Amino acid sequence: MTVLDEVDAILAYGDCCDACLGRFFGKRSHGLSNEERGRSLRIARAIERHEPFVPAKGDCCICGGLFASLDGWADRVVTALEGVEYATFLVGTRIPPLLAENEEMIWSDLSLSHAEPMKSEMNREIGKRVSARTGRVVDFRHPDVVVLLDIAHGTVEVQRSPLFIYGRYRKLERGIPQTHWDCRTCRGAGCERCGFTGKQYPDSVEELIARPIVAALVADGAVLHGSGREDIDARMIGTGRPFILEVAGPRRRTLDIRALERAVNESAAGRIEVDLVRPAARPEVETLKSSRSHKKYRILVEVDGALSDEAIESALSALRGVTIRQRTPSRVAHRRADKVRDRTVLDIRYLGREGAGVLVEVLGEAGLYIKELISGDGGRTRPSFAEGIGLPARVTRLDVVLVEDPTEEENDGTSQRSAKEDAV
Ligand SMILES: [Zn+2]
Ligand SMILES: [Zn+2]
Repeated sequence: MTVLDEVDAILAYGDCCDACLGRFFGKRSHGLSNEERGRSLRIARAIERHEPFVPAKGDCCICGGLFASLDGWADRVVTALEGVEYATFLVGTRIPPLLAENEEMIWSDLSLSHAEPMKSEMNREIGKRVSARTGRVVDFRHPDVVVLLDIAHGTVEVQRSPLFIYGRYRKLERGIPQTHWDCRTCRGAGCERCGFTGKQYPDSVEELIARPIVAALVADGAVLHGSGREDIDARMIGTGRPFILEVAGPRRRTLDIRALERAVNESAAGRIEVDLVRPAARPEVETLKSSRSHKKYRILVEVDGALSDEAIESALSALRGVTIRQRTPSRVAHRRADKVRDRTVLDIRYLGREGAGVLVEVLGEAGLYIKELISGDGGRTRPSFAEGIGLPARVTRLDVVLVEDPTEEENDGTSQRSAKEDAV
């Protein structure tokens, strides 16, 4: 069959618009829109057959008039994007299956192999029109916004892509969880106990960081991805803990990192502090969360009994560089699998006395449980400080002073153990 024979056969199904006719041959020639291609085919057919030229009529048996309404759809997209800051966009279209079947039936009946699907023409044509009106460009890989046209329902949905910000936080006050916890009584529904907030604690590091940023970027919310986490009763000091804040659905995308950092630090009023470092990208979140950074802790240890400095030094040096066998601590055994892990004490030092306590600094491999390293956890952790001195000992205060930056670490590709929660 020649192309014109195919045109005859297509039009035998009923009249269609130039865009739909041209689309059957969409992959045969470039540099034309389907509408131009369809009209040209009608002209060529009239000349070849010595017939008068008949333009397409109003009714299209393929798209039902969809391609006559491109400008209207483009208007709707432009309206839907008002008030949203974006430099790049992408259009996606949900074509009702019954509509798509109209052309798919003809493709298979006539074995047409150069046709373009309705959906891709729609995406491209709307993209061109929106681009012409707004000056923004289509980006197939990382668009700032995705606009979804639902043809059946006549609706336009805008999905604003999240933004990612890399930074480090210090938690200067104890008793603040890293992320928000649902109220234990009502499980987040809101009750008298939680003052109808649904929260166990009024604030979290996540909320203290997110609140001013969500407000500044007019976003739907934000999630904190930390490189591990400290216990609620531990401070995070020193250079801070690396994190990536994922900001959902921002209507503003210009990141003034310094201004955001100031806003967070002012509103947190010394409870936490952040250094916002730079914009980040989604793939970095996984790297950050699966990192195996070493951590340094400063702890205050209470010992039941009198102990000389020499006894402390000798018990600590017996742990230095040693691999510790730790069974899942009894304090978390109810929510974690019971396993035995080997983790190394990279360094451990005696800093002196503080009141009745002993001040110690520990540099541990990721996943080392610090409280149990001291107490021995009833023999579940061995060796331990308590075992070394032959007296009961426990951590009464714990601060994280250093979390290595996972994005600056070399990834050796070995075990990608999840460091979702620091051991501590
Ligand atoms: Zn049509
Ligand atoms: Zn509650």
